[in-house]
Amino acid sequence: MSVQYDLHSHSTASDGSLRPSELVRLAKLRHIDVLALTDHDNIDGIREAQLEAGKVGLHLVAGAEISVSWGRSETIHIIGLNLDIDNPILLKGLQRLCEFRQWRSEEIGRRLAKKHIEGAWEGARAFAKGNIIGRVHFARFLVEQGHAKDMKQVFKRYLVQGKPGYVPGDWATLEDALDWIHRAGGQAVIAHPARYRLSATRLRQLLGEFQELGGSALEVVSGSHSRDEIQHMAQLCCGCGLRASVGSDYHGPENPYMDMGKLPAMPTICVPVWESPAWSSSREVQQAASAPDTLPLAL
Ligand code: AMP
Ligand code: MN
Ligand code: MN
Ligand code: MN
Repeated sequence: MSVQYDLHSHSTASDGSLRPSELVRLAKLRHIDVLALTDHDNIDGIREAQLEAGKVGLHLVAGAEISVSWGRSETIHIIGLNLDIDNPILLKGLQRLCEFRQWRSEEIGRRLAKKHIEGAWEGARAFAKGNIIGRVHFARFLVEQGHAKDMKQVFKRYLVQGKPGYVPGDWATLEDALDWIHRAGGQAVIAHPARYRLSATRLRQLLGEFQELGGSALEVVSGSHSRDEIQHMAQLCCGCGLRASVGSDYHGPENPYMDMGKLPAMPTICVPVWESPAWSSSREVQQAASAPDTLPLAL
């Protein structure tokens, strides 16, 4: 059997709903051999995930999904894989983003209060359970309070550009994000490239800048890409000589659209990111993939 990769997932350390250890156990149940935990702007869940991965026989890639402000007002997500989570430059960079997140969450609360929605910050904070607060935590609070019927509707009404609870991002520059990733020994991947509202020209421009900065791969197969988008991204990726990545962007069982272990295969024209010379020891990966399932894996 070929090695199964999922290089994009979230835990309670950001806006996922499973603890890092639960996420790892689910990945093992879904026959994933190599899982990257890539929480938004932090690596707080990595140690717990690594510990559990060691127990169940799965290779855990230490990752993060870094928020980047690009162009006039775009937010782009850059995934760092195989990160040294003790690297001080990476940690300092992520710390700055978390401070912005803290201020942003308070500002979202103030803006919603002006629209007569009281207690949103406290509500979001309760959903985040002491972890970094994201828009998803506000979304859960607003749905719970009956302001919208589901996540899709609540984002559309309150949390996207032009809506009352939207605060423009002051994230990392593309240059900084790639610098932090590279200094921490990792590879940089553009997450879910078909999700950004970029024209073909702007997307090419993004790929060009990303490549010039030493970026490695495009997330061709994503839980949020349609089959057509996968083919389109595969062509773009090969056309410019980038490698390709695969990630579910799993956030937990509440989101039925992005499941784990159900991704389509990578188009054969692509060169996988894990085949790059920089990728971490393939011997370790193979060992994890062939380890017997010895533990009970109930979630
Ligand atoms: P943040 O990084 O806090 O601004 O939040 C971004 C996260 O919100 C994404 O990673 C998704 O998990 C979630 N998200 C963004 N847009 C939507 C949407 N339209 N519906 C549901 N979740 C969304
Ligand atoms: Mn998210
Ligand atoms: Mn993302
Ligand atoms: Mn993600």
